[in-house]
Amino acid sequence: MIYHLGLGSNLDDPVRQLARARARIGRGAGEIRKSSSLYLTEPVGLKNQPWFLNQVIEIESSLAPLKLLATLKGIERKMKREPGPRNGPRRIDIDILLAGKTVLRTALLTVPHPRLADRNFVLVPLAEIAARTRPPVLGYTIAALKHTCPDRSRVLRVEFPAADEESVKKRSSRARGGGNRPRPHGRK
Ligand code: ADP
Ligand code: MG
Repeated sequence: MIYHLGLGSNLDDPVRQLARARARIGRGAGEIRKSSSLYLTEPVGLKNQPWFLNQVIEIESSLAPLKLLATLKGIERKMKREPGPRNGPRRIDIDILLAGKTVLRTALLTVPHPRLADRNFVLVPLAEIAARTRPPVLGYTIAALKHTCPDRSRVLRVEFPAADEESVKKRSSRARGGGNRPRPHGRK
């Protein structure tokens, strides 16, 4: 089954945290089929915290939605995400945005993600890899939802010199804490 996942981090070298999360997802949750660029995004809700780094990935997984959620929560725990306020600073957040055409509204899991259509930091990267997808319930394509989303918070695509997995791993182990500073796209 195809899922779209939203990844976010704003603590402890977010580039590296997203790379670690992708590696763990690839090993334990499903095969990564598509990845958006990385985006620096203005915090929504709690303003007084670092900007986030966000990315959306598409995976193919044999896990049922609740099993996938448990697996992703396990990855967050292993990456030592400290419990904190909703929308507050975090090392890693992994959300299930879409589970194909599946609609679920349970205490543990709601898909499509209930705040999907309100958030630029989700819609912009999701539109990069799934613009023509028409999620159930929402009724419009991702491209159309992005177009009409009233959220004005800033979402900046960032580029890294050679942002492939291996070089990110090598550079971040060489330069723990200091390396991999993202910079807004278009400025060299
Ligand atoms: P948020 O992502 O909203 O800032 P959390 O990551 O702490 O907050 O998630 C809180 C709870 O939301 C999770 O423990 C999970 O059970 C629930 N949840 C409901 N729907 C989803 C979803 N689509 N993806 C991820 N978590 C979800
Ligand atoms: Mg979450």
